[in-house]
Parts: sequence; C-alpha cells; structure tokens
Amino acid sequence: MREVETAYHLPVIEQLPGNPETPESQYTGGLRTRRVTEHGSLSVADAWYRRLDLDNGVTRFWEPHVHPLEQANFWHIRGRDRDLLIDSGMGIVPLRRSFPDLFGTADIIALATHTHIDHIGAIHEFEQRWVHSAEARHMENPTGITTLVCADIPAALCRSFIDAGYPPFGEFLIDALPHAAYVPESYRLHGAAATKLVAHGDIIDLGDRRFDIIHLPGHSPGSICVWERETGSLFTGDLVYDGPLVYEGPGMDLEVYARSLRALKELPIKVVHAGHDPSFDKGRLTQIIDVYLQRWGMTP
Ligand SMILES: [Zn+2]
Ligand SMILES: [Zn+2]
Repeated sequence: MREVETAYHLPVIEQLPGNPETPESQYTGGLRTRRVTEHGSLSVADAWYRRLDLDNGVTRFWEPHVHPLEQANFWHIRGRDRDLLIDSGMGIVPLRRSFPDLFGTADIIALATHTHIDHIGAIHEFEQRWVHSAEARHMENPTGITTLVCADIPAALCRSFIDAGYPPFGEFLIDALPHAAYVPESYRLHGAAATKLVAHGDIIDLGDRRFDIIHLPGHSPGSICVWERETGSLFTGDLVYDGPLVYEGPGMDLEVYARSLRALKELPIKVVHAGHDPSFDKGRLTQIIDVYLQRWGMTP
C-alpha cells in the first residue's frame, strides 16, 4: 500500500539522497473552513489523527497538526490473543474513543518506547501500561516539555531544535485546533503509572506474533526498540528516524547513543517503523546511522 504522506519532510541529512516516499509538504493536514477563534490564526482541523492501515495488521497513526518536532508516529498491531500499541502520541484528543474499531477491546498492551511528550500522551487511557524500568518514574511524573505553549520551552532548547533542522516555533506546538472551543493553554501531559516494567530480552507475545524488546538507550535512558524477527520489522521510537535526530538534552548520551546505533546494523531488518517520519529500509537505516556517527567524529 502506498502511503499518502502528510508529515512535514524535514531537511534532514543533506548529503543523503532524498527519501522517495516523502514528498515536500507542509505539516498541515486537511483543514475545515478557516475559523476565527480567540487564537486568531488557528483553524479547526477536519480530523485530529491520521491513520494508515498497512496490510499486515499494522496501523500507523500520527497527528498532522502537531509541530514536526513532536509529531510522532504510533503503531497499533493486531494480534490473535491481544493487541499491541507502540506509543500513543500527544494525548491532545482522546485516542481510544476516536478509533473504537481498534481500541474497543481491553486486551491491549500500551507500550512506551520512551517517555517524551509525543510518545506517552494517551497512555493513561489504557489499562496495561508498559515501559522500561529506567523511565517508569518519568512516565508517572513527566518533566521537560509538558505543554503546548512554546514560550514554556527554554529558549536554548528551541534554538537547538531549529539548528538541528526543525522549522521555527509559533505560539503553540499545534497549527490547528481539534475543535473550535479547544484552548491550547489548557493542555497538560498526563502522567501515568506503569503496570509492568520491561527489560532487554523480554518478549511480547500476541498469540500469533512475537516481539522482542531491545534496550537501546542514548536518546533517553530507557529507550527501547520493538523487533519482530518473523517479518524483519523494527519499531525504533526516537532512536532513529528519517529526520533530524535529537541527541543533546536531558537524559541523552552520545557515546551510549552511538553504541545503540551500531547495534542496529547487526539486525536483519527489512523495514524500520520509526517514531517520526516515513518508514524506510535497511539501506536507508545504514545511511542515516553512518552520517550521524561521522558527524559525531566516531567510526561507523
Ligand atoms: Zn519523538
Ligand atoms: Zn523522544
């Protein structure tokens, strides 16, 4: 199935050939008629979430009206006995009742690849909340970016994101409202207590599909990847994606990050479903890893 891509294409790594899956587009999705709100320039979005059903029981979600820095992919995987949700977006709009066909059942494991705002926003809606032990406390009491108000983000941090290749920030981390009465200042990231701590080597068994947890820190201390050996599919969270990687900030460690990236090269990967931007293959993964290792003055 060909992706109808609406995510902003980040001018990632200039020395790499462009990803043909990614047209040059803005980060606006479908907008209803422009509406004057108390926030003036913000329109009301047609639909908050975008959804793409792949043909192997995997569904990709993203939020096109969130600034590219925090516009994450999250993934629903249908299993015979239970389902798996990998990450959950910003939590700006309730996720579960938006998609009752996928989230109507209670037997869904909601797993966080790590605990940044764009990956745990809706995890509190789920009964089973799994995260690596190194970030359980942070999931319950998140710090860092926890609002939609850009003025609340430290200026130095904003500058580092723009230097990395992200577009400038407006007043809010969203460029449209989910509904006319929505007040962006009222948003708060919900903390959520973990119901199970995962560790490197754990297996998630959906009955007919099995996924290995691989602990690959660097972007954050408890970052995990989710690996389905049977299909060669790797869900990477923010360890690697086809956009500007974020490797300088609280909880980030370059040496550890490099070790984690090198470890990915050893896996017989067919497709990378990343935490941001379109999916890609092993060749692209290797290109991205080598560019970053070289940038950091390390041997690929
Ligand atoms: Zn992210
Ligand atoms: Zn992150």
